[in-house]
Amino acid sequence: MSSNSETASYVVGLIGADIGPSFSPSLHEREAAELGLRYAYKRIDINELGIAPEGVGELLRMAQRRGFRGVNVTHPCKQTAVEHLAELSADAAALGAVNTVVFEDGKAVGHNTDWPGFQQSFIRGLPDVATTRVVLLGAGGAGTAVAHAALSLGVERLAVVDTDFDRAGALARSLRRRYGDDRATVPARLSAELRRADGLINATPTGMAAHPGSPLPLEHLHDRLWVADVVYRPLETELLRHARHLGCRTLDGGGMAVFQAALSFELFTGCEPNTERMLRHFALLAEDAPAPVTR
Ligand code: NAD
Repeated sequence: MSSNSETASYVVGLIGADIGPSFSPSLHEREAAELGLRYAYKRIDINELGIAPEGVGELLRMAQRRGFRGVNVTHPCKQTAVEHLAELSADAAALGAVNTVVFEDGKAVGHNTDWPGFQQSFIRGLPDVATTRVVLLGAGGAGTAVAHAALSLGVERLAVVDTDFDRAGALARSLRRRYGDDRATVPARLSAELRRADGLINATPTGMAAHPGSPLPLEHLHDRLWVADVVYRPLETELLRHARHLGCRTLDGGGMAVFQAALSFELFTGCEPNTERMLRHFALLAEDAPAPVTR
């Protein structure tokens, strides 16, 4: 933070691939303006710069040298960034991934606001649903964050499904180590698991404009399920549209995107953002945005 005038001023950024369409700059800068902060949010796109995900360390050092207050980190750098940081929050260390880096006292400190982002969105959007048995599709970066949020929220048994079977197994094992032996499993058959499930969470990219369609056969859905999606471009995915048609309660990915941004904003500035205002701003951005072709 620089304080050469009465107004606090911050430069922050986003490191990732193909981040041109990201809502983050607008979401952060608009909220900062509402709070009377001078705040610039810059995109640092590794594809435009011709840098491999492993080059994230050099970009972090450059941002620190240039006086950035911090950066958000997104696909495909959330894991590769970890080894370049001086410190990690306990949650970021447990997840092995960061989406927020704050430069403080000359040190780069990593945080993960994706998982509390999903948690807060879930509490707001589906506060009273049954959570005895839940199916999670996707054991990648988002799936790992969502799994920790789900088990912290009290989901009794999480069934982890990924087309990459080893990935599902690795996530289920790490969840069992942290939360207990009976809390996470890899089901033998998705259709059978869904029949007895209370909820379904999609944390795969399927449903995005660049990956259209549904991540599972839609005939597996039933009206006793609630359905959450982390995809937020578009907000109404094919999965959510079908679930709503059946009468399921649903949660779109916009809430997670806003709450993770709000938590990062607070880490950067120390100021508490107005999340309801950010949610309204996000809805306008989503309405106005042309159909995205990248993540
Ligand atoms: P990733 O590539 O790390 O992981 C995706 C995983 O899904 C992979 O392991 C893949 O094998 C698996 N998969 C793909 N299709 C599948 C299917 N049909 N069934 C089961 N598994 C399948 O990607 P990621 O970084 O985890 O991102 C996933 C999605 O989450 C993206 O659309 C991203 O935009 C979104 N996301 C949203 C937020 C938010 O704030 N709402 C935050 C982070 C990521």
